[in-house]
Amino acid sequence: MLNEILAHNQQFLQNTTLPHVGHAPRKQTAIVTCMDCRLVNMFEPALGLERGDVLELRTAGATISTPERAGAANDLIRSLAGGVYLLGVREIIVVGHTECGLSKVNPTALTATMQALGVDPQQLIEQEHLSGIEGLVEWIGAFSDVHLNVQEVVHVIRTSPFLPTLPVYGLVIDINTGKLTVVDDGKPGRAE
Ligand SMILES: [Zn+2]
Repeated sequence: MLNEILAHNQQFLQNTTLPHVGHAPRKQTAIVTCMDCRLVNMFEPALGLERGDVLELRTAGATISTPERAGAANDLIRSLAGGVYLLGVREIIVVGHTECGLSKVNPTALTATMQALGVDPQQLIEQEHLSGIEGLVEWIGAFSDVHLNVQEVVHVIRTSPFLPTLPVYGLVIDINTGKLTVVDDGKPGRAE
């Protein structure tokens, strides 16, 4: 894959001259979404985003794993804080998606793949003080309902002591059609 990328890059440099774009997102917005490969070349067109518009942060499942939610001092919050305090972000949008890999984590398959790749799940569980296989599944960030998960991530961001009070919205994108559904419209007074 690396050679493929480097060969393509030669072509790209010959054919493309990028315009200069500032590093502060011009729409003053940070968008948190998933790492899913099907979002590549689909997500930005579906939302009407151009280069330089927003900060895009991607995590597995557009989520913060359960052990890291407490205290909200995790890498997603750190990145959002950088966006807010250093790059002028004033709105945050969390976009989960349907058919997310993190919404159907099979614990048996997870531990079997770990073992096949030379990582002992039991040893990891003991070493990292995870509460069994269930704790391992929580650590990787598995969830069952994408809408609920988006709402929970919105809540963690909204209540993080590292971040100021900002509008935080939650959406779900249909991975097959690109259709967006609003899960949390950012209005105060929601039951959370
Ligand atoms: Zn996903």
